[in-house]
This record gives sequence, C-alpha cells and structure tokens, in this order.
Amino acid sequence: MVDKSNPTVLVVEDEKELVTLLRYNLEKEGYRVLEAQDGEEALIIASESALDLVLLDWMLPRVSGIEVCRQLRQRTATKNLPIILLTARGEEGDRIRGLDTGADDFVTKPFSIGELMARIRAVMRRIRPALADELVEIGDIQIDRGAHRVRRNGKDIHLGPTEYRLLDHFIQYPGRVFSREQLLDAVWGSDVYVEARTVDVHIGRLRKALRQKGGVDPIRTVRSAGYALDDSFVKAIKASQSLPPETRPAPQDASAVGSR
Ligand code: CA
Repeated sequence: MVDKSNPTVLVVEDEKELVTLLRYNLEKEGYRVLEAQDGEEALIIASESALDLVLLDWMLPRVSGIEVCRQLRQRTATKNLPIILLTARGEEGDRIRGLDTGADDFVTKPFSIGELMARIRAVMRRIRPALADELVEIGDIQIDRGAHRVRRNGKDIHLGPTEYRLLDHFIQYPGRVFSREQLLDAVWGSDVYVEARTVDVHIGRLRKALRQKGGVDPIRTVRSAGYALDDSFVKAIKASQSLPPETRPAPQDASAVGSR
C-alpha cells in the first residue's frame, strides 16, 4: 500500500515505456511515484511537491536534465534533494559534467532495473538512515530512535514528546524544507486544530533544548518557507553500523531497459 508518508520519487523521462517500468518497480518497493515528461514540467512539480528523490533523464524535451538539475540545486527547498541522472551518454566527460551539476549518481542507459533500484536504495539509505529504528548521529547529536533518547556530545538532552517528534521528523527527511502546515500535519496530525505559530513555539523549545549544553543550532529557518535541518547536519548524518542492509524485497526483473 502506497500512502502519503512513503518516500516520493519524481520520474522525469519522456520515454513512456520506461516510465511505466520505473513506476511499476518503484511502487513495488513502496515508493510514491510522480511523473514529468519534460524538464519544464519537472521544475513545476518540484516546486509544488515534497520530493525525496528525482530520477532525471538527461535528454528531455524543452529543458534538458542537466539544466533541471542545475535549477533544482539553486533553489533553497531542493538544493539537497537527491538526484540520479539517467543518460544514454556514457563518456567520462559527460559523467563528470553530470556530477558537477550536482547529481548524486549517474546511471547509463541501457541499465538493468535491478541495478537502478539498488542505486536508489543506496541513495535513500544515505539520506534517510532514520527509516530504520536505529541509532542515528547527526554531527554531535545522537538519537536513539528505539529508546527515544537524545544525547549531544555524550550528554543527555531532555526533550518533550512534541520536540522529540519534530526532531525525528527532520532526521527522517534530512535536507527537506517543511512549512509550518506540513509540520503540523506530520507531527500533530491533520485532524487536530493547532495554530501555525504553535510550531514556532515548539521549534524554539527544541532549539533551546538542543543547545542547552552548547553546540550550534541544527535547525535552519528558511525565510517565508519554514524549517529544515541545517546543511552542516544533513551532511554529517549517519546511521549506526548495525543498520540492517535492506529490509525490502529485491526486484525480480533484472533485464536491461532504456535505449534513448
Ligand atoms: Ca529521453
């Protein structure tokens, strides 16, 4: 069952059969899938939807994949959004150009769907270690998600339940910017009426608690947009080594797909 809390992947590809195949395999692994057939549409969807990953074809009508990648990297809300470039070009120069533009990974067509899904899992594991109930470290902050305990520099930090849920939400989606409304939905639930400024109050408490024993503020205020985990903490995120390799079933179809 795919619901709103599942990670969302935007597939940007003009080759219809490939989109169908990607959607099938992504949904099978529990992702929510959005589609764009050209670069222009991709940029619009990315500004309207909260995404966790973009599969981006290089050769697209209107705006090229490289240009989409560049523009997503320039926007505050999507500058840390993981992007995997799909391309028929396999030359070293293209690969470097793609990665220079800010893509996280690069897959050359034709590729096996099994390999692509493995790359997606690797990127998701890197950015969302908190998907598993384990010890997560973000810089000098350690979060034990099983025991709901938070420590900073080895010292216990006492958080109220709401502050804990806020922090937990940020580490589940590192790099994403959340509006107050989105945080209300995720942390308080959509059936509860709470004013948006309540979010500011609890963010304030979370910041104060996390900084009571020193250290920099891990929460970033994004002007007129909301809140996010600070970039320096997004980069420092890592899960404990005891994290299980992968709990989802591996895809069955390993045939090579995509030619353009
Ligand atoms: Ca194409």
